[in-house]
Amino acid sequence: MKILKIIYSHNHLNHQPGHEIDKGKFIENYDKPERIERIREKLIVHEMGDFLEPMDFPTSYLYTVHSSTYIEWLKNKSNSLKKNEEYFPEVFGYDRCFDTGTPIMRNTFEQAWLSAKIALSGAKLILEDEDFVYCLCRPPGHHANSVYCGGYCYFNNAAMSAFYLVKEGFDVAILDLDFHHFNGTQDIFYNSNLLTISIHGHPKWAYPWISGYEWENGEEDGLGYNINIPLEKGTEIDEYSRSLELALTEIEDYDPDFLIVSLGFDTHIDDPQGDFNLRTDDYELIGKMIGEAGYPTLFIQEGGYNPEASANAALKFFKGVLK
Ligand SMILES: [Zn+2]
Repeated sequence: MKILKIIYSHNHLNHQPGHEIDKGKFIENYDKPERIERIREKLIVHEMGDFLEPMDFPTSYLYTVHSSTYIEWLKNKSNSLKKNEEYFPEVFGYDRCFDTGTPIMRNTFEQAWLSAKIALSGAKLILEDEDFVYCLCRPPGHHANSVYCGGYCYFNNAAMSAFYLVKEGFDVAILDLDFHHFNGTQDIFYNSNLLTISIHGHPKWAYPWISGYEWENGEEDGLGYNINIPLEKGTEIDEYSRSLELALTEIEDYDPDFLIVSLGFDTHIDDPQGDFNLRTDDYELIGKMIGEAGYPTLFIQEGGYNPEASANAALKFFKGVLK
């Protein structure tokens, strides 16, 4: 019988970004604790897996992905703020952020590091012969590259867990199923032969707009190892599952020891940020296709901004994975 291990820390509740700037106006920030809490409750009620606390790691792991300048900047900025103060980095200037949706608060560094430790714990577990490990990371990570935060992301959790496994001598592929393009993950591995694939809303109309086109294939040693599959507004499961099949064929050719899935449920039709039309039941097929691919798989939580829709999608998804 296949088993799911789930890594979760209630300390993510302390990550409470209040606002973001959208089209010049302050709006409520979408990265709410409920995103993770609803998923957790749903998986507990349906006895979908065993919950574990994250382990501790030295902060030196941050440097496997991020530059020391960026890490120090985030740490110093967080430490300089008063309780409940919310700082919006300048996009063009000294600050190291590429958008206006990613505020920094006094505990941001600590919270982002906790999220990364959840991913590192997952990597450690998957090395110990687990089949499937689900990391309930929050804040998410896939928009952060080695020198910038953005898109609610500060540290790239998927990339950090990938480096952890690579350092142990294993081949890893990353498949990103969040609605938004994984610009941070793509940047980090653009010159590397670690296979990175993303299925996402087309950048001609979807955030982060700056990247996600088919022609972004990698450079130098990475040439051919970055694959983008941008899809149109309103994409339904038929088209989506064809794209996923294509991605899984590429992964099969690459033949990794481990698969890392950056998992976002903002592909759900009821998500306020995504524009795909995937329905709750569709996630069972998506999960089944990934489970049947047969790799020990680490699932890293990314987006998903309708807590109830995400929870229902997560339940179906993991039912499919464990089938
Ligand atoms: Zn997203």
